[in-house]
Parts: sequence; C-alpha cells; structure tokens
Amino acid sequence: MRIVFLGPPGSGKGTQAKRLGQKLAVPQLSTGDLLRSAVRGGTELGREAKNYMDAGRLVPDHLVTQLILNRMQQKDCADGFILDGFPRTKVQAEALEKALKVNRIPIDVVIDFDIAEKVLVERLTGRRVCPNGHGEWHIKFRSSVLSGFCDVCRALLIQREDDQESKIKTRMEQYRKDTEPLKKFYEARKLLRRIGATGNPAEITAQIEAALPQPPPAPAP
Ligand code: AMP
Repeated sequence: MRIVFLGPPGSGKGTQAKRLGQKLAVPQLSTGDLLRSAVRGGTELGREAKNYMDAGRLVPDHLVTQLILNRMQQKDCADGFILDGFPRTKVQAEALEKALKVNRIPIDVVIDFDIAEKVLVERLTGRRVCPNGHGEWHIKFRSSVLSGFCDVCRALLIQREDDQESKIKTRMEQYRKDTEPLKKFYEARKLLRRIGATGNPAEITAQIEAALPQPPPAPAP
C-alpha cells in the first residue's frame, strides 16, 4: 500500500509512520530524515539543504523531489511505502503524481493529521533528538532510559535547530501557506482521510488503520 501522511510539524507523522510501517511491512520514507542524514554525511545536497532546514524553511522542491523519487526506486519500496513529510508543496505533489502515473502505481490514501497548534508547540519545543539520527525523545512525554542521552549510542541528546520557538513559527507559516492547500488537492482526488492526532499513539494508529482502504474480497472458490 502507498500512503501519504499529511500534517503540520510535530503532529506525530514520524512516530505513526514507524508504527504503521512495521505493521504493514513497508518502509517509512521521511524526507526530513533523508535530508538530516545528507547533512550529517556532508554531501553536496546536505550542504545546500542545511541553511533552509536550520531556518525552518522548506528546501527547494527540485532537491527534495529528486531525493525522494530516487529513494522510491529502491527494492524495499516495491510493495508500498509511507511518505512522511512529502509532498509539502503543490509542485512536489504534482511531481509525485506524475512519477507514480508513469509507473502505474497510484497513491492509495492520504492521511491528514488533525491537531491544535497549541499542542504542536509544546511537542516541538520539548523534543530532544540523537545527533547521530537514532531517534527522538521528549522532556515531558518520553524520556530516554539514561535521562538526556541516546538509548542507542549514548550521545548527549540535543534540540533540533528548527525546534526553537522562533523557527517553529516559520515552519507553521510555511505549513499553512504551502502544505495545507494539499488537503484540497487530495480531497479532489478522493484520497483524503482525516484522523484526530491528539491522544495516545496506539489509539492514533488504530484510527489510521481504520481509515486505510480495505483490500477487495478474495474471489469465491
Ligand atoms: P521534518 O523532519 O519533516 O520536520 O523536516 C525537517 C526539515 O526538512 C523541514 O523543516 C524542511 O526544511 C526540510 N524538509 C523536509 N521535507 C521537506 C519537503 N518535502 N520539502 C521541503 N523541505 C522539506
């Protein structure tokens, strides 16, 4: 199944993409993770993307689109994927639609994460991440076992540059201006399903599962 997760920063798309990806045995394709990995690796793309990311602004469409379309070519995507953080603009949504059309593998469903902005700010400002990309924790809701250090590599957890309050404002503005209009784009294609993204992760996963299209019944013997 090919699924798009649409929602503002901090709405839990990453957490849910990991949970659902495991259940459905399809990979989570997070453009944010791919970009951060390029930054850590010091690649040309990483160097280009870093300033935009640190400022809380969107990385130019052509860079992100190329990155994700390449990733989608890999073998593990043959049976589907969950797109987490892509598309984020109409240009990206159109490029995705075009690429999938060529391969005759359309998107099955777009899950829209509905959540109040007040909750998002609390989630983002309290988030702490492993500098080596091993995951994320929260000062209030999810502490690491070795409080303040990564459970995997024991590095000191840090706050993402773009999780500072001033940058969050920019990210929300970008979301409203560029990404929110995609709801209409996918509504027009009858692909959009809205879920309430406040509550415990298991409940939210259950809502998403209920919103997924059901496979056609097996033919009678
Ligand atoms: P995320 O981890 O999804 O919050 O993404 C972190 C940052 O990566 C964003 O604030 C953008 O700077 C960049 N980014 C991630 N996905 C995209 C995208 N689809 N288009 C443009 N920039 C992106």
